[in-house]
Amino acid sequence: MRSIYVCIGCAALYLPPEDMAYPCLGLTASPAHCTGPGCAAAVREAVALCGLPQDKLGELARRAVGLEGQPRRPRLHRRPARGRRAAAAPGGGRGKLR
Ligand SMILES: [Zn+2]
Repeated sequence: MRSIYVCIGCAALYLPPEDMAYPCLGLTASPAHCTGPGCAAAVREAVALCGLPQDKLGELARRAVGLEGQPRRPRLHRRPARGRRAAAAPGGGRGKLR
């Protein structure tokens, strides 16, 4: 099955060839950006800012939009871990100075 990618620059979904190459154009496809104007530069900047390689950023973007990994489900009711008390409300504790 071919992988669908999401562009970090413009959020477009794209479907590059399986070998990630466009021989007629002499270009290689990136796992992190489409061929839109400015998208390659945006990804270069993101790589410089966060220090992660392009393929890792592309994987995180694919995971974020649900193209890879488990589908995301909202957690509606968060329970405290078993055996632990819920966190106290701010300002709810009694102190000696009051
Ligand atoms: Zn793009």
